Amino acid sequence: MTIEYNVLEVEVDLNAIRHNYRLLCQKGSKVYGVVKADAYGHGLIEVARALEEEGADTFAVGIVSEGMLLRKSGCSKRIISMLGPLNEEDCFNAAQNGIIPFVGEFEQLEMLSAVVSAQGRKVEVCLKFDTGMSRLGFNTSELDELIGWLRRHPEVCPVLASSHLATSDDPAYEGYMSEQAETFSNILQRLADAGHELEASLANSAGILVHDQVHYSAQRGGIALYGSNPLLGTAWSELGSDLKPAMQVRTKIASVRKLRKGQAISYGCTYIAEKDMTVAIVCAGYADAFSRGLSNRGQVCIHGKRARILGRVCMQLCIVDVSHIENVKFGDTAYLLGGKGEGRISAEDLAAWWQTITYEVFCLLGMNPRTYKK
Ligand SMILES: *Cc1c(COP(=O)(O)O)cnc(C)c1O
Repeated sequence: MTIEYNVLEVEVDLNAIRHNYRLLCQKGSKVYGVVKADAYGHGLIEVARALEEEGADTFAVGIVSEGMLLRKSGCSKRIISMLGPLNEEDCFNAAQNGIIPFVGEFEQLEMLSAVVSAQGRKVEVCLKFDTGMSRLGFNTSELDELIGWLRRHPEVCPVLASSHLATSDDPAYEGYMSEQAETFSNILQRLADAGHELEASLANSAGILVHDQVHYSAQRGGIALYGSNPLLGTAWSELGSDLKPAMQVRTKIASVRKLRKGQAISYGCTYIAEKDMTVAIVCAGYADAFSRGLSNRGQVCIHGKRARILGRVCMQLCIVDVSHIENVKFGDTAYLLGGKGEGRISAEDLAAWWQTITYEVFCLLGMNPRTYKK
């Protein structure tokens, strides 16, 4: 789901992503590159290629179709689908393309078994367990049934085991995380006793950066690859401070105009000029995934300085105050994310104005046309 043409341009620095991957590898032992949702808006194929050059040999996508796209791009490394199959077509495609699906439902197992048995083949899977997210995966209480099922179905071969942490980025919930890890360890032990020695992953980015005890044999690195520190604002913040941002988003200024004190700006007249001012009309609006929620609260970066959004964000435009910035003119660049100098906008700044997290900022803005800096 991408916007094909736009004034808005997303610039992705693949070197920053490589740097972040190397950093995660220094902390973890074997880091999968999490590239779901078009690599958090940074570009599935481009990011996977860059990571592969850094030695990544496993990629984690969300839905099976994302894995197919990656396979079709020529990627020959291990690909894991963290959602797993939702229908028979997904089962077929996973087996056909050598994509290892997560399975956390008996329905998924039955479907996979039926599809691959009909073809006289086998399929490798990652067993997914729910240890505290209460979202996807088998529960401990289903373990005996699962082990029994696997014994009767040699065409379904578990090679990985996985679970997901709910609170690894929050010092206040370290206990919750430890309980998840303990549950996961017990599951792994029972699987091993049943003859399933599996590569196991539990940690996400924050888990990799902070908690050695949840590293197991592999880790899944996502947000940190893209340069956002998941620990920012916590006592652990320092552990992610060397990550480098990889995405910048810029656009053009379509007009610069004078406003007289008392004049209203944009739909609904929600901002009235407090003094005579100069404003710039910036080509970015909610159709470009630059949220209307930023109305009267977001900022952009122009000539290295901050410019506040005034009034409502429109469909493809917004209006910013440039009274304090010299020589702003038609055609100049405005950064919605990144930029140069003191006024540079971090993903965390933007997420705060947007009242969301950096993950969403990247996924949404990343739908715009991208260019790559290598
Ligand atoms: C997205 C995702 C990750 C990566 O999480 P980050 O916080 O971005 O590192 C890991 N595991 C699963 C199951 C995910 O869905």
